[in-house]
Amino acid sequence: MRKKLMMLEDLQELDLKTDGSQARIQVALAEIEALDARLQGAVAEVDATRAEIDGTEADKTALEENLAAENANIVRSEANLKGITTQKEYQAVNKEIATAKKLIAELEEQILQKIGAIEGLRAGLATKEEALKELEENIGVQKAAVSSRISEEEQSAAADAKIRAERVKEIPAGMLKRYEKLREARRGIAIVEARDGSCLGCNMQIPPQMYNNLYRGEELITCPHCQRMLVIRQEAGE
Ligand SMILES: [Zn+2]
Repeated sequence: MRKKLMMLEDLQELDLKTDGSQARIQVALAEIEALDARLQGAVAEVDATRAEIDGTEADKTALEENLAAENANIVRSEANLKGITTQKEYQAVNKEIATAKKLIAELEEQILQKIGAIEGLRAGLATKEEALKELEENIGVQKAAVSSRISEEEQSAAADAKIRAERVKEIPAGMLKRYEKLREARRGIAIVEARDGSCLGCNMQIPPQMYNNLYRGEELITCPHCQRMLVIRQEAGE
């Protein structure tokens, strides 16, 4: 039994190493996701600025169209003036022209504001695009480093899986099944050392008779408190 327990302990060591590898791979994958999200955020900001520029340009075009229409109105009104015979009509057309000129002044002011806004947005866009380019390079380097870490972990996990496949052949199926269930239930630790009368898995005292049986190493003994399989290390000279 002792030999089998030792083999099981070696298996657990390997399994814990693999657990560590898998955990590190998960962390690395999360890192890649976070890097991608950061990049997407920067891309979204650039896209939003571009959309804002397009929108402002469309507003400017609409204002320019209004301006052209008002200018055309004035030309038409001024042409109308020539055919007018009454003072009343003359006043009405002049009033139209004055209103159109006032509108034109307002439109020109608004167009200038849009031009200023577009210039500001373009300058902001250039800065954001530059920052994005830098971020892309930076994140590319970081992702490459994380990816190579992942592939190293995967290689080592694959090598360990081969070793494991060989090792489990030596362990009786029932014992292996029990070990695996215990590992699931006991946070990866199914087999623990007993030392100085205690289980090192849960630190509880083991009844003396049970402890003596452990020394004999003839049967599988589990901790009465945490149910883990117990193994005892016999120091040299013992
Ligand atoms: Zn225990």
